[in-house]
Amino acid sequence: MARMRTASSICVLMALYAWAVMAQAPAVDWQKQRAETLKHYRALVQLDTSNPPGNETRAVEYLKNVLEAEGIPTQTFALDPKRANLVARLKGNGSKRPLLILAHTDVVGVQREKWPVDPFGAVLKDGYIWGRGSRDDKPNLVANLMVMLLLKRSGVPLDRDVIFLAESGEEADVTGVGINFMVAQHFADIDAEFSITEGGGGTLDGERVSIINIGTAEKVPARVRLVATGQSGHGSVPRLDNPLIHLSAAVEKLGRWESPMRLNATTKTYFERLAAISPPETAAIYRALEDAQRAPASLRYLAEKDPRRYSMLRTSIVPTMLKAGVGPNVIPSEAEATLDIRALPDEDIKKFYEEMNRVIADPAVKIVPLPATRPPSPASRLDTDMYRVLEQVSKSMYPTAAVLPTMSTGSSDMAQLRAKGMQSYGIGPAVSAEDENYGAHSDVERLLESSLYKFVEFTWNVVHAASVHR
Ligand SMILES: [Zn+2]
Repeated sequence: MARMRTASSICVLMALYAWAVMAQAPAVDWQKQRAETLKHYRALVQLDTSNPPGNETRAVEYLKNVLEAEGIPTQTFALDPKRANLVARLKGNGSKRPLLILAHTDVVGVQREKWPVDPFGAVLKDGYIWGRGSRDDKPNLVANLMVMLLLKRSGVPLDRDVIFLAESGEEADVTGVGINFMVAQHFADIDAEFSITEGGGGTLDGERVSIINIGTAEKVPARVRLVATGQSGHGSVPRLDNPLIHLSAAVEKLGRWESPMRLNATTKTYFERLAAISPPETAAIYRALEDAQRAPASLRYLAEKDPRRYSMLRTSIVPTMLKAGVGPNVIPSEAEATLDIRALPDEDIKKFYEEMNRVIADPAVKIVPLPATRPPSPASRLDTDMYRVLEQVSKSMYPTAAVLPTMSTGSSDMAQLRAKGMQSYGIGPAVSAEDENYGAHSDVERLLESSLYKFVEFTWNVVHAASVHR
């Protein structure tokens, strides 16, 4: 009873606080913004920016026209003229360091025969907008655009610069045209205290948003090749040093190895809050993670039933490729496997490879690290003003939703920004479990029209609360 009373008074306090946050935002007639939001969003989805080849300059030209028509100057930065990046800045009084709002303009390719509608039609059907990029990442792109337009029109004084970045080459930046180029060559133009971008989002349960995920950390790709060597020879003569035997034993050992489990601030809070909103049995599984006695049973459960959350607990090793042999009667002198390793943000990767060596325990097998695709990036903090704003806005817009800081098992362009010390947070529109089948990189992408509008409002509330001078 006492606990309930405390919980309900906390709820009242949070609602009051949320109301206070909302009350500070100037009234925007959101109904009125819908037509313009939809116009820009559809126009951007209709531009084919499939990467490869990208052609992101198409989107840059569109954005440049819209921003400059509003009196917001822009700059383009291009390593490849077809794959430009665009930066626009609204100046603040400099009392706080800038906020970077970024989104990528490229999308993954399409298999047209899988689509029920034109993948670049931005077709409106059943309350959804259908099209490649409708989820990844044009909602963030258009939300950022609308925020820039609305901030400029409102004329409100800002404590910090708000920097808009539309970047190319996120999906596959093999030539370094996007974030790598901007960070290496033009960092001064995007340098900020905080950034917000894709990498979070809401969970829709029917009409209700039940969870808001805020991306605060991501794992670090640290892939390796396992190379086994031995004497080549005739297939009719068994040899103990056959590299295939050594390699497969090593893959088997690593595949079964339970690398050490470790929680960080993000995953600790994530599992605590997830437990608070889960049915009793699953809640018990999450709560047991920090209990040495009961953790092994929880880990087994997650490994079997919930591999994504299992991966959030440790540096994961996943064999993804095998390569060996030239003929059925030839013992090759070399055999290799590729392991997709995703490290916890604070992992000492050299030590981890040593640990893997110990597990393999076979001098015939060597670990050869592959070139890094992303820099190691520390988790962003949960005690920053920006994170507080993200939580407050989530609570004010969705008072009954749980707000979960989240660590992605994948990687994003936030890695490069976090590596430069920028506290970076992932946000996104709310989607249902069914919509997950139409998400980023799916055969077919779509977004609920109402979620798009709510997400623009969310982004505005966040940028406003973090930047406007009071
Ligand atoms: Zn994306």
